[in-house]
Amino acid sequence: MPEIGLVDVAMRVEEALANRRCDPVAPPINEGVLADRLASYDFAGARPLSAVIDDMLSMLRTYAVRSDHPRYFGLFNPPALPAAIAGDLVGAAINPQLAVWSHAPAAAEIERKLLHLFGALVWPDIQAAGTFTSGGTEANQTALLAALARRYPGWADHGLPNGDRRPAIYASTASHLAWVKLARMTGLGADAVRLVPAEKGLAMRGRALSEMIAADDGFEPVLVVATAGTTGHGSIDDIAGIVEVGRKHHAWTHVDAAWAGAALLHPKRRHWLAGIGQADSVTIDPHKWLSVPMGAGLFLARDWAPLAAAFAVSTSYMPSRSHERRDAYIHSVQWSRRFIGGKLFTALATLGLPGYRALIDRAVCLADRLRAGLAANRWKLMNDTPLPLVCFVPDEGDDDTVRAIEARVVASGQAWISTVRLGERLVLRACITSYESGEADVDALLDALHEARLQC
Ligand SMILES: *Cc1c(COP(=O)(O)O)cnc(C)c1O
Repeated sequence: MPEIGLVDVAMRVEEALANRRCDPVAPPINEGVLADRLASYDFAGARPLSAVIDDMLSMLRTYAVRSDHPRYFGLFNPPALPAAIAGDLVGAAINPQLAVWSHAPAAAEIERKLLHLFGALVWPDIQAAGTFTSGGTEANQTALLAALARRYPGWADHGLPNGDRRPAIYASTASHLAWVKLARMTGLGADAVRLVPAEKGLAMRGRALSEMIAADDGFEPVLVVATAGTTGHGSIDDIAGIVEVGRKHHAWTHVDAAWAGAALLHPKRRHWLAGIGQADSVTIDPHKWLSVPMGAGLFLARDWAPLAAAFAVSTSYMPSRSHERRDAYIHSVQWSRRFIGGKLFTALATLGLPGYRALIDRAVCLADRLRAGLAANRWKLMNDTPLPLVCFVPDEGDDDTVRAIEARVVASGQAWISTVRLGERLVLRACITSYESGEADVDALLDALHEARLQC
């Protein structure tokens, strides 16, 4: 047994959370020192848990870009809400096995309740199918496998047909390149991901998709993807237009709303995702804007049949299956399953829907503050999105200037931002990700940018 209990660990964790604002956002990493610290672990004997936890917390706090920091304005990796951390801890402690409903009815029903809640926001008139996943990549993979199962009824047993036209995925040039990995994993090959030009480098329209499909001899559109909230620029594709084109071609239509899907919880912001209810399936990542610990994805679909077609198997050693209960192992990629929904359940139950709406509003308002501060100080805004992601450039200078400003801001230790290509240009990119970020943090970023520009 450990010499300290979990209460002591929790206290250490709580202290780390309380102090993270004081830690540097992106400390310079000394890999040699890190290697030495790890070299001291030869696992030859036992160490006290307190010492190991202290050391691990110290290493994680020191050797990392601190995406949990309120002045991290980077990719969408928010810090986890305390209630969600607590839910994850309980899930880890009891460790329910969700492969079959009958082994963990409570956990399975909690997940099902959440699935129905999000499903009803997408398709108010039906009870949605779907599963929790490790993240957006697995949710998108589920969409691809369901699409193949529906399009080629023999595929699940005999593999891809040898037709003249290769099965293809259509998504925008600004989509998440998880699609490339998924195309490889399914044997389609990376060039079966047909990247449709996004308008002005941002959102993809139905018309562009239609033109590309028409020009694409030799490819059969099996899956058509609209991205709601691109990683680079936060743009939202023309969901309704894309779904319409996809349907015309009998493709499975999917909305990758890994990040922006959280807006479904907000009645005043839901219209950002107009048209989502026409799609066959949706990806939402609770580990993005819903701020639960990684990994937590959610795959939603209109119906269970394509999932069963893609995943159902039968073994004598598994407890008896229940079609009624939709055993997860025969409707999803995973077999043994962690209780992923538990951390979302505790977060949602403690914040309530109004709490999540406030969290979303807060990020949107902070991004507006950042835009206003930039526009008032000779920065040029480069993207147009309701999401809290701001792309901008100084009013003078080229890509090298942009790179130099990014490097100076990061080196200042005041904030973390990044750069991204937008059409021909490299632009600075700042995304509000932390529920702890406040106006003073945005103002500190503006100050750091101002200083950096003076020096470049
Ligand atoms: C983050 C993201 C993904 C990948 O999801 P993971 O959770 O990182 O696997 C896919 N698509 C979009 C739009 C994303 O934002």
